[in-house]
Parts: sequence; C-alpha cells; structure tokens
Amino acid sequence: MYRYEPCYTATNKPSCYNLDRNPAAPYPHSMTERADKLQKIYKVLKGLYPKAATFLVHRNPYELMVAVILSARTTDDQVNRVTPKLFKDYPNPPSLMKADVKKVERIIFPTGFYKTKARNIIGAAAGVVEKFGGTVPQSMTELLSLPGVGRKSANVIRGHCFDKPAVIVDTHFSRVVRRLGLSGEEDPGRIEKDIVSLCPEDIQTDFSMMVNIHGRRICTARKPDCSRCPVSSLCSFLCND
Ligand code: SF4
Repeated sequence: MYRYEPCYTATNKPSCYNLDRNPAAPYPHSMTERADKLQKIYKVLKGLYPKAATFLVHRNPYELMVAVILSARTTDDQVNRVTPKLFKDYPNPPSLMKADVKKVERIIFPTGFYKTKARNIIGAAAGVVEKFGGTVPQSMTELLSLPGVGRKSANVIRGHCFDKPAVIVDTHFSRVVRRLGLSGEEDPGRIEKDIVSLCPEDIQTDFSMMVNIHGRRICTARKPDCSRCPVSSLCSFLCND
C-alpha cells in the first residue's frame, strides 16, 4: 500500500515524501557518506540510462534557450510540437526579437502561459542581440539577465550547449534526490547547492539528466516503482507496496 505519511528531512522537519524510511539506508548521512552514495547511484543509473540527454529538441544554444523558456509548466513533448514552426519562422535571435508578439503567441499557444512566454522569448532574443552581440552567453550571471531564464534554464543551457558543470534542478530531480537521501532541502537553490557539494563537476550534467529520467520513468511523483528500482538498496525511502 502506498502511504501518504510525512517523513523527515535532515533538519527533522516533516516533508512530503509520502514514503516509508528505508532502514537499510538511513538518512541523514554525513557529507562524505552522501558523496559516496551519489557515486554509487551514478554508476547504477549510468548503466540504466547511458545516453541521458535533454528531451527538448534543438540544434543550437538559441533554440535550446527558447525551448527551455517555453518548457515552464508544460511537458517537453508539448514544447517539441511548437518549436519546429517557431524556429522555421524565427531562425535566430535577430528575427525573433523583431517578431510580432501576436504571431508568436499563436504559435506557442499550446504550451500555456503563452502571453508571458511570448514576451519572454522575444525579450530574451533581444537581450542576446543587444547585450551579447547575437550569441547566447555562457555565464550564469549573463544568462540570468535574460527574461524567462532562471537558474534551472541557465543550467540546462550551460550543461547541454557549453559543457559546463550544471546541476539541473527541476521537479523530477528535486523529488528523486530527496527520496534518495542526497538532500534534505526543499528549496531548489539549496538542493542545487547540496548536490554541487557532493557531485564531481565532470559528472554533474550527466547525473542531473539521469536522475531526471529516473524520476520520469520509475521514481514518479505519485507511484514510485520501488520494486523494480535498481537503486532501491541505496534509497532512504521506499514505498510500502
Ligand atoms: S523508486 Fe527508487 S529512488 Fe524512488 S523512492 Fe523508490 S527506491 Fe527510492
């Protein structure tokens, strides 16, 4: 039976894991233990998802920047349905920054929040042209200066386009690392900090994507499939099916 009970974080505050504690892998651990656990989880997940990559279809940093802004509060599939037409009509930042906002809204309408998103992608394209000479910037600070680009989006762009170390904290990643006992935090910024401190830079992007896919396929929000989860012996929480 899947139980909706509060469990407790590292700070001993109730949290919404909705799972039982796993006595074989108790939490909290010391930082060294968590770093060691992360390496073990990485090895197992690497075998399971050897080619973990973003699901957002793109050919260059400009397209990924736009796609990731559109991906807020919708699925990657939905974004991938609208971007072929969007990138055909506006193939680069100069064309998008001059776009008619109503035309852009019509194209991206299925992704939801289309008015805000249209403003953001046009504004981000303008920012790329006016502040960065038409090239999507690589630094976190510069990326965060673009409308609609938050830390998660900036990390997606840095990790996938520029090979920078990037811990990409989205809803799937947050849920899974907390269940695994790698972080007891709830705030995405704090979770990112925790994982950055545990995870070597050269595997951060890879680890982020594997955990993300694991969250989509096995460690789902409502019904994690713990009985067929290959990292269950390392996980701090288990469903009691
Ligand atoms: S699916 Fe795996 S990672 Fe998720 S809670 Fe169950 S055992 Fe832990």
